[in-house]
Parts: sequence; structure tokens; C-alpha cells
Amino acid sequence: MEVEDIIAKIVEETELEEDEVRENIEEKMEEFEGLVSEEGAVHLVAKEHGVQIAEQGDGELKIENVVPEMRKVHIKARVVDISDVNTFERDDDEEDGKVQNLVLGDETGTIRVTLWDEQTEIAEKIEEDDVIEISGAYSVEDNQGNAELRLGDEVQVKMADDDDIPEVKNPNEAQEASIIDVSEEGATYRVRGMVLNVYTSNPFYTTCPECEDSVREDEDGNHVCEEHGEVDPEHALAISAVVDDGTDSIRGVFFRDQARDLLDIEEDEELEGDVEAVEESAEGVAGKEVELEGRTRYNDYFGRIELITNSYSVLDTEKELEQLLDIMEA
Ligand SMILES: [Zn+2]
Repeated sequence: MEVEDIIAKIVEETELEEDEVRENIEEKMEEFEGLVSEEGAVHLVAKEHGVQIAEQGDGELKIENVVPEMRKVHIKARVVDISDVNTFERDDDEEDGKVQNLVLGDETGTIRVTLWDEQTEIAEKIEEDDVIEISGAYSVEDNQGNAELRLGDEVQVKMADDDDIPEVKNPNEAQEASIIDVSEEGATYRVRGMVLNVYTSNPFYTTCPECEDSVREDEDGNHVCEEHGEVDPEHALAISAVVDDGTDSIRGVFFRDQARDLLDIEEDEELEGDVEAVEESAEGVAGKEVELEGRTRYNDYFGRIELITNSYSVLDTEKELEQLLDIMEA
């Protein structure tokens, strides 16, 4: 559903006037300091007012039209990336759990598919670059507000005709670039630069301790996980920092372990939601020379491309400078 359609639906099903809905959306975007897109914000507002926006139907969708909370998703797409299988221990089960990610793409974008347990057998039967058709899947929202596909009990996966989907670039393969050349949405870039500024207001969001998905707060102030119901939430970091390489600057968004690395704080401090620790650590970050690798997305609030960081390192510039001087002296 388009943003405008959802706004219309909220107006229709609640007491809110259109102006008020738009105000609510802007407030949400401000509250999250640009971490939430307009589309994400309108979903949040709809959820808060109990407006159901899941879509029904079985028409084949292009990937850009798959948004969170959809049922019976039907797509045809190229397999762009197959991750290794990760296993994890379960408290209540003798058998270890398995999880594996696929990235599927078409000419409109890419989407992650999470396979659990016996679903990982699907990944054994396909290869990167295959074209597959999935029907009866459903979508959830990942921690970054993007749609992620899950396979329910009624899902069907089959091979499809290679001609149906054009070649798709793997969004996880980083291209090294000057910041001024970081222009493509949904692509992975590696940039180097100096941290100018770290934003530390609202550094935490709340998550379910069991599945780590983000939880929402209901009217009574309880934290509710879609899957696990009312939970005692943990905190997860989401902060942003501006990095400049002399050609331009870019806003990098850091989640969880990336944010901990950037700030150099402990996991305990993150889980407890220790705002003071974050603020103190942030002071030491500005001026660091860093290398970031991450995926770009368009931030509606700032009207700019930003980088969702998936790896981060501090560069040892003194050492590099010494090497440079050695070369010049030789
Ligand atoms: Zn949960």
C-alpha cells in the first residue's frame, strides 16, 4: 500500500483528520531523528491507532512493493546471495536451531529471506543466480525498517524461467568509493573518512529478549513482541554519525554491535539502555579516522542517501602517515 492510501485508510477508520495524521507522521519521523522513513512512520502511526494495513491477495509482486506485514506474498526473483547456515542452541529443544539468509532481487530491488530449521533445505537445492518463484510467504519488518520475507507453512518455492528476471547486482558486495560518489540506493559501499559528529539523543530502541525483534509499546506502556507477546524488553543501540572524507559527508547509521564498536561500550551497557555511557563515549569518537562498509538507503527526512553500517574499523592514520613519509624519504 502506498503512503497516501494508508493515510486515507487511517482517516477512514479513526477519529483523526488528515492534517492530524500527517502531523503524527512528521512527529514520528522527528522522534526517530531520521531513522524512520515516511513509509515507516505511516506504518507506525497506523499500528498505534489499530489500523490494519496488511495486504491480501496472491498477485505477483515486484520486490519494491513488498512492505512489512504482508500475507500471501508472491514474487519471482533472482537468488543474489546465499549465506552460510548458522546454528544456535535451543533451551527447550534437544536439536539445535538453524537459520540461513537468502537475498533475492529483481529489477526493482532486493529483499532478505530468512530460512529457519528445515527450511534451510531449500537453500541446498538452489544456487546463486537461479530464478525462483515463491508464493504464500509473509513479510515482517527487520530492525532497520525494511521488509524481510519469511516462509510460512503454506509456502511454495519453485524454479522459474531465467528470462523472467534480469541480472541483479549483489547488494552485499561493497564498492570502494569517495563519499561524493555514493549515490545508488540499496547498494553496498566502503568509504573512509573522519567522524565529525555523533548523534546521541534517543540512542536506544526496545527489543524482545527472545527473538531480538523490535517490540512496540501498547497504550498501557507494556512492551509487546508480535511473536512472544508481552515481554520485559532489552535495549538495542541505533545511533548515527556524520563522516566526511573531504569530497562530501555522509550520515552513517550504526545498530547494535556496530554501534558498540563505534562507541566502545560494553554489551551490558547496551542491554540496560545506559544513556549516560553512550553520551560519555560519544565525546571520544569525533575526529577518529574510520572505514565504514554498509548499505545505502534514502532518508526521506533528510532528503539524502545514508549508510546503514555493517562493518566499521578505526584506521591507524599515524602508521599510514609514517609509511607515507618513509616512501617520500626513500
Ligand atoms: Zn519475540
